[in-house]
Amino acid sequence: MPKINHVVIVGAGPSGLLLAILLARNLSIKVTILDASDKIDSNPRAAHYAPSAVYDFTRAGIIDDVREQGFTPKGICWRLKDTTFLAGMGREPEQAEFAMVVLPLDRLGPLLVKHFESLPNTEILWGHKLVGVQQDADTATALVETTKGEKKEISGDYLIGADGASSGVRTALFGKEYPGETLKQQIVATNVYLPFDERHGYWDSNFICHPTDWYMAARITKDGLWRVTYGDSEDLTREELIKRQPKRYEEILPGNPKPGDYKLMSMSPYKLQQRCAPSFRVGRIVLVADAAHLCNPFGGLGLTGGFADVGSLYDCLHGIHIDELSPDILDKYSSVRKGIWRDMIDPMSRANFHRLWDPAAEKARDEFFKMCDKACEDPVWGKSMAQSVMAVRHDFEQYFKSKGGDGVGGFVDGGKA
Ligand SMILES: Cc1cc2nc3c(=O)[nH]c(=O)nc-3n(C[C@H](O)[C@H](O)[C@H](O)COP(=O)(O)OP(=O)(O)OC[C@H]3O[C@@H](n4cnc5c(N)ncnc54)[C@H](O)[C@@H]3O)c2cc1C
Repeated sequence: MPKINHVVIVGAGPSGLLLAILLARNLSIKVTILDASDKIDSNPRAAHYAPSAVYDFTRAGIIDDVREQGFTPKGICWRLKDTTFLAGMGREPEQAEFAMVVLPLDRLGPLLVKHFESLPNTEILWGHKLVGVQQDADTATALVETTKGEKKEISGDYLIGADGASSGVRTALFGKEYPGETLKQQIVATNVYLPFDERHGYWDSNFICHPTDWYMAARITKDGLWRVTYGDSEDLTREELIKRQPKRYEEILPGNPKPGDYKLMSMSPYKLQQRCAPSFRVGRIVLVADAAHLCNPFGGLGLTGGFADVGSLYDCLHGIHIDELSPDILDKYSSVRKGIWRDMIDPMSRANFHRLWDPAAEKARDEFFKMCDKACEDPVWGKSMAQSVMAVRHDFEQYFKSKGGDGVGGFVDGGKA
């Protein structure tokens, strides 16, 4: 007798939608998604999905469509402001089954919605804002206000907070404070048609190192749209940051382009945050992705970590559903996922960021560049480096009772733990 009938997911962002597809497609669980907005967020955000995410795209049955709309990037490198090459890796086409894929979120989102809505027992309730939560021994309930002013209660066996950085679910559980810090610098992310590859010989992903004029330029679509994300001062308001964009492009980009030299498609300033929720589980309510943890976007670890939460939580709910795991596995989910953020995502994302501008990071930068050289000289080792991000995943199926697990995150014989 299946244990889970209905899961309520708050947030139709990429993490909520991926979890929803996994549950509805593979386990035939009824899934309701609530979203405060009336449409998918179209701001320039994630575009690069690491091999760990591709693993879960494959399990969700969406990878063929993602690859068809997106592409596998060739080469990531670091340069000086005058475009001088410092180091790089991955110039050869990646042939691995789970090779990274690039597709901007505003294109991935509609693809995920299409897959989700094609499955039975699924619904997305747009204009439904979560304002509180309740739970008892058997159910978890979302307290919702709609854009029409109605108040509703929507209950399921589990309630998942996939509602992003300002998560209503996390706030309902732990209050307004999100432990961690806001970094000093601000960034402006822009999507632009400007052929860096043809004009300046840029690779698909380029990080430009400079004390003040650091930036990232990466091709993010097959038709030549580029993401340029640059830094600016912490004192500026959002409006000032937006107004300064033409000046900053002219100051920092090669060839000092003026507005007529490129076609700007979208832009958004962001603050950079490193934060982690006190726990990712309270009873029948579970947090994933930006609702649970944040990091700066350099190196693309934000949603990479978020999708890895989704993969782990899917394993847990699968195990609970077929009585292979106890609901107490969700405590292990919380401790394992928090540990991966603390030991891997937080330090790696900080190192990726400091490598761009911080003189104190010079020694670490030189060592990192030597590692890039080694990856080029020894492609087998280089490939293993590219796949090392798989460590962000944690397989909870290993704790299934039929596989020798004890159902709560250990092993019956104790040997593997
Ligand atoms: C410039 C930039 C570039 C990035 N690049 C990368 C990258 O290349 N690779 C990578 O891995 N990561 C990257 N990231 C990080 C990535 O974009 C985020 O981690 C990701 O978007 C978070 O997804 P999510 O599903 O957790 O939340 P979101 O995408 O924020 O979705 C949350 C959803 O919840 C809804 N919502 C919010 N509050 C409520 C509420 N109270 N009730 C109901 N609904 C609610 C919102 O409307 C929204 O639809 C980047 C981030 C930035 C800023």
